[in-house]
Amino acid sequence: CGIVGYIGKDDTKDILLEGLQKLEYRGYDSAGIATLSGEELHVFKVKGRIAALREEVDPNVKASLGIGHTRWATHGAPSKENAHPHQSDSGRFTIVHNGVIENYNQIRKEYLGDVELKSETDTEIIVQLIELLHRKTDNTKEAFRQAVELLSGSYALALIDSRDEDTIYVAKNKSPLLVGLGDGFNMVVSDSMAGLQATNEFMELMDKEIVIVKREDVTVEKLDGTEVERESFTAEIDS
Ligand code: GLU
Repeated sequence: CGIVGYIGKDDTKDILLEGLQKLEYRGYDSAGIATLSGEELHVFKVKGRIAALREEVDPNVKASLGIGHTRWATHGAPSKENAHPHQSDSGRFTIVHNGVIENYNQIRKEYLGDVELKSETDTEIIVQLIELLHRKTDNTKEAFRQAVELLSGSYALALIDSRDEDTIYVAKNKSPLLVGLGDGFNMVVSDSMAGLQATNEFMELMDKEIVIVKREDVTVEKLDGTEVERESFTAEIDS
């Protein structure tokens, strides 16, 4: 239902929680965040309110990269296990997803026969598929790109690789997703409301682009690898 991601210099926990709070008005049944510092990844999730997630998050964890999600269940009941972020088998890849993957059953049968799934969501299929494709390509961007090519349905995705604390991988199809641009940081938000605490400069994303978000820059590519120039816009803030 809602996505917020942050990559920058500051500690990400409060930025993510505040962003998720701003998305509460859209409704949700569970929420979670993942943070990465070095190769240390932490995932916190709850069934229920952002206030409960705030309690769940370990205040001692510090990280300048993170992704967060509010879930409105479509596949699998509202529960802690089904809450996002979802992780691949090895724990290397972590994803948040808004929308519905229409061919998730087909992908599961065709590619993931040997994988023991930990949730009932269509979302977990995506991150398990990325891990499988990564085994073949040994390249996270390429695995992400190939996964996006195989997905049908609606999605806004933010992926992190726990071996790379300098990147958030992003793509969308028929679900809204924006990049928020800052000085020494960037954000990924499903709704500008979730980013306005930190920036009012945003970049719109088009369907099936592969977007590489780093602290200092953002690269937008088509699925065939061609780079795309994208202007940003300034969001009007109602006061
Ligand atoms: N289909 C996904 C799920 O059920 C994502 C739902 C959403 O957009 O929150 O977990």
